[in-house]
Amino acid sequence: MNRNQYQFALNIGIVGDNLGKSRNAFQAIQAREDTAHHSFILGCLLDSVGQPPETFISDKDPAVAAAVAIVYPTTRHIICLHHMLGNIADHLRPAAQGQGGWDRFLQLFWAAYRAVSPNAFEELWGTLVTEFPGCRAYLDEELYPIRRQWAWAWVVREFTAGIRTNGRVEAENRVNKMIGGAKTSAFDLFLALNDRSREQCKNEMMLVRQTARHKHEADIEQIFPGPLAMLCAYCGPFAIQTCYREMQLSVYYLCEALQKPQGRETEPWWDAQGNDISNDHAYVALHYVLLEVQVRRLTIRAIFKIRHLSTGTIHYVIVLTDNRLICDCGKLMNLGVFCRHIACVFQDLRDLPFHISIIRPRWYMS
Ligand SMILES: [Zn+2]
Repeated sequence: MNRNQYQFALNIGIVGDNLGKSRNAFQAIQAREDTAHHSFILGCLLDSVGQPPETFISDKDPAVAAAVAIVYPTTRHIICLHHMLGNIADHLRPAAQGQGGWDRFLQLFWAAYRAVSPNAFEELWGTLVTEFPGCRAYLDEELYPIRRQWAWAWVVREFTAGIRTNGRVEAENRVNKMIGGAKTSAFDLFLALNDRSREQCKNEMMLVRQTARHKHEADIEQIFPGPLAMLCAYCGPFAIQTCYREMQLSVYYLCEALQKPQGRETEPWWDAQGNDISNDHAYVALHYVLLEVQVRRLTIRAIFKIRHLSTGTIHYVIVLTDNRLICDCGKLMNLGVFCRHIACVFQDLRDLPFHISIIRPRWYMS
């Protein structure tokens, strides 16, 4: 955190824009960093924008957490993974070294983080706290109660624009350090920060022009004529570029339809399908996805097994009766653009309509 000569902090808020780039949404010089001050700043942003953010990412600061809960009660608050790991190292490294070792601790922690369902998380968390009893108090009191705000099994279901950390804020803090030192006047700082925001805006326009000039490969245009035309008509560069890359990659996958047995939508048939991905590609358990589908009273039209032709990696795509799609890789939910597995289904299921609402409005052209 940058401070002036009176020890007032320069607080910055960053949004991911519809190009997937950082934009400074606000800067505030704060006398104190308590809930009242943070609430005032977040309230100013709400007044200015007219609606609360869908997702808010911060470090595990209790004053910020309280302010978010007060001012943005409907906003999903995610904890920055980078900060959390820093805190874990500070608090637990010595204790972990005295037990199974720091590497083993991290191995178990990451396994719990990547758990493919809430049930799997509970099991893996149990292993972690059992193997490291000296770390148990911190883990169970500080991290477990807020697991829904950082562990993959929950975060995957939320739209975070793919962001896991507030590293963008750290990067901007470094820029601000160069812009203003302890002796910079508030007026000079104000001018310099505005220049910085204008520079971000200029970069955005350059990216939009570059994407508009980009020529797509003929074979991808032939395979996905409808989706590609619609993406170019409605979406900004981030969605176009990301989806185009996923469409290119989708040709290396094979799509196989699985039959849905009548009346046996949840178990044990689905569990027996397993989810035998052994690489580090993120996914959630199929039975967990199916449970969510059932809880929401949605009906499944078909399930596809998507297999990579050389690595054999397997993912599952669910097509609902209203033609909405769910993939177990979580990209559609978490990043708001479709993945290569869904693109593979579009190749295979020719009567599946492509609607632009599959892309989050966040990525539409402004
Ligand atoms: Zn996928």
